[in-house]
Amino acid sequence: MTAVLDHSCASFASVSGADLSVPLVDGSSCTYVNFDYAASAPALAAVTERIAELLPFYSSVHRGAGYTSRVCTAAYEKARVTVSDFVGAQSDSVVIFTRNTTDSLNLLAGCVPGDTVVLDIEHHANLLPWNDRRVVVAAESIAETLVRLEVELSTKPAALLAITGASNVTGEVLPIAELAALAHRYGARILVDGAQLVPHRRIDIGDLGVDYLAFSGHKLYAPHGAGVLVGRRDWLDAAEPYLAGGGAVRSVGLDRTEWAPVPARHEAGTPNVLGVVALAAACEALAQHEAGGSADHERVLSDRLRDGLSSIGGVQLLTVWNDAPESVGIVTFSVDGYGPGEVAAYLSAEHGIGVRDGKFCAHPLLARLGHPDGAVRASLGLGSSGADVDRLIDAVGELVAQGP
Ligand code: PLP
Repeated sequence: MTAVLDHSCASFASVSGADLSVPLVDGSSCTYVNFDYAASAPALAAVTERIAELLPFYSSVHRGAGYTSRVCTAAYEKARVTVSDFVGAQSDSVVIFTRNTTDSLNLLAGCVPGDTVVLDIEHHANLLPWNDRRVVVAAESIAETLVRLEVELSTKPAALLAITGASNVTGEVLPIAELAALAHRYGARILVDGAQLVPHRRIDIGDLGVDYLAFSGHKLYAPHGAGVLVGRRDWLDAAEPYLAGGGAVRSVGLDRTEWAPVPARHEAGTPNVLGVVALAAACEALAQHEAGGSADHERVLSDRLRDGLSSIGGVQLLTVWNDAPESVGIVTFSVDGYGPGEVAAYLSAEHGIGVRDGKFCAHPLLARLGHPDGAVRASLGLGSSGADVDRLIDAVGELVAQGP
């Protein structure tokens, strides 16, 4: 236990910026403590190394006959296989590279032949793109929420159940296999917004019965600008291309266009080759860290953080459900007498701790949790350590002791 707490996973997974020195308000400086992994996670060393390897071959993919273009094409298409294996995609699935989760969800929204059922707890990216959406209000327990979803799906057919794998506000993890079985029972498919789940837990969409999964490279210890939509081909092949342009076609005449099948159909334009290759490198590295116990490490640290914060008078932790079986390393809280922006600014200026404050692109959820003006979110990742957690708990304790 002590070893788990004392050493960050960075001891076997070095993340960029791990030893960053930042200025404090009193003119001194300290080592930065990152508690904002849920927004964007700093690149792993394995990722930056892969980028450095590919940079000398920088060129466009697919139609270039030159050596560097062939190297990049091979790396880009290999990344597709790596990502497909990483999430356990089946043979009727395809990996489409996008810019991020938001892009993936918007792409799929243009392909769904019918209504989409969502919960009210979703990130805006999994709420706003669905044109024909039916919103179910989550109950106080996951068990009752499943009943409400069943009533909705059985009363009126829907094409898709679009649901997050883990809440970006509370970290609570949804029972995906059960939700997939529920959707399928009523003839719907299931999309999992994996933006917060995939960086923390291994997810095998074949085993879980998930039809579509979306996630972002920048939350997965890879750079900004590359994301994934993986899932069943038929809807994707039947839809109009997400973007019209070069690369998405088989042939073009002035009065006629024959679109290509997926994945090219939805990947018009020059793709983000480096970003995609980096994302695949992150998948490989994460698979290794997960095999080495990174999820257990995170569980220990986040339990410690939750226990430490909730033992401070005037600090409230936000949760949706009273029966969530587990959570990823996201802990959102409020401090009596202080606005979320004040808490975040104090932690940064006086302690060099980076958290996030606001409504986390989940306005309906923050409102129903009684925090319409937002809260403070601390999120952990592979670089987090027990010392970081203690520093945050102590800093919040100090703020409360000072009094508003
Ligand atoms: N879904 C969830 C649950 C998220 O947490 C986020 C981002 O925070 C998104 C979707 C959108 O991700 P991106 O901004 O990478 O498109």
